[in-house]
Amino acid sequence: MERKKKMSLAVWIFIGLALGIAVGLMFTGNPEFANNYIKPFGTLFLNLIKFIVVPIVMFSIMTGVISMSDLRKVGSVGIKTILYYMCTTSFAVFVGLFFANIFKGSFIQLSTAGLEYTAAEAPGFIETLINIFPDNIISPMSNATMLQVIVMALFFGFGTIMAGEKGKPFSDFVESANEVSMKIMDSIIQLSPIGVFCLIVPVVATNGASILGSLALVLLVAYIAYIAHAVIVYSLTLKGFVGIHPITFFKGMMPAIMMAFSSASSVGALPLNLECVEKLGARKDIASFVLPLGATINMDGTAIYQGLSAVFIATCYGINLTMSQQLTIILTATLASIGTAGVPGAGMIMLAMVLQSVGLPVEGIALVAGVDRIFDMGRTSVNITGDAACALIVSKLEDKKDARIMAKMV
Ligand code: ASP
Repeated sequence: MERKKKMSLAVWIFIGLALGIAVGLMFTGNPEFANNYIKPFGTLFLNLIKFIVVPIVMFSIMTGVISMSDLRKVGSVGIKTILYYMCTTSFAVFVGLFFANIFKGSFIQLSTAGLEYTAAEAPGFIETLINIFPDNIISPMSNATMLQVIVMALFFGFGTIMAGEKGKPFSDFVESANEVSMKIMDSIIQLSPIGVFCLIVPVVATNGASILGSLALVLLVAYIAYIAHAVIVYSLTLKGFVGIHPITFFKGMMPAIMMAFSSASSVGALPLNLECVEKLGARKDIASFVLPLGATINMDGTAIYQGLSAVFIATCYGINLTMSQQLTIILTATLASIGTAGVPGAGMIMLAMVLQSVGLPVEGIALVAGVDRIFDMGRTSVNITGDAACALIVSKLEDKKDARIMAKMV
């Protein structure tokens, strides 16, 4: 039932996109109507996204940290899993940035009409470091300074664990607030078809058909980066740690990958993913810990998409990202992908946080929003493949550890 609903939303989004492009082309050369009467509704949709991003990040990170009190019990499995997830995700952002920088020259710069934006001064490294730590709890939320929001969430998360029994009511509140925020986000995502329509019309009307070529190109680059990451990172780590042939792995994973591709939801693909990794040799107890955790915090595809989109949007606005800005993107996109829920469209919402962290205009999301579903199908497939690779690797490492312990005992 649930799946059917999600699929039809995707169809609606495509209809919104196609209609938006058609209407946008009709207004080319005469974009006033589109800018005055259609664009405001696109802005409304973006405002909703901006509105929900802070609570989503706050509560999902707090929930994640608080659940680490269980992670400690799971001990070595937990540490290995988190290590693999963090390393592969930051590498994924790097892959996204790498391909974006190669193809950057072919992304077009938009007509400046209607883009009232002046580049924010990029702060230096020490300043960035100091700025990560908020001096009060209100301003990070009201200014949506995402790194500060994350630091705050981490502190409150760890504080809750340290408070023990006394922290229980707060932890229950956070869990419930997380659920509520997710539901609100879900409703905002339901508005995507209209949002997409209202966002793409003025973009096409102002920039003409040339923007479409640029969008097709950035999509192509995204898929190249997705495939490169999956083939290089997962094949190599699986070969190295598990000794499994990459073809065997990808073949065995096909049902789960297809499910992820069509539903654009890591959570939706979870049951099939569990089945696939067990058939490939993962331990059931380990897979049932590693995969659900991965479906919530490990999003390599999303990280690639966020790195790439940040460069694409910057280029469209005529902004050249500095090295330190790109490093900030690696950091924030890694964290943003952790905070991304495994549901359709969530990665695009978290893109707002990545853009804000380097002073890029959040309005830039309008450029990629129209085709987000196509990005999403690919990134979700990468997301769940990363979770599966981790489950196999940790199973193997734990097997080896158990064998060593057994050998010592005899
Ligand atoms: N749809 C993705 C997933 O479920 C999340 C995202 O939007 O990036 O894994």
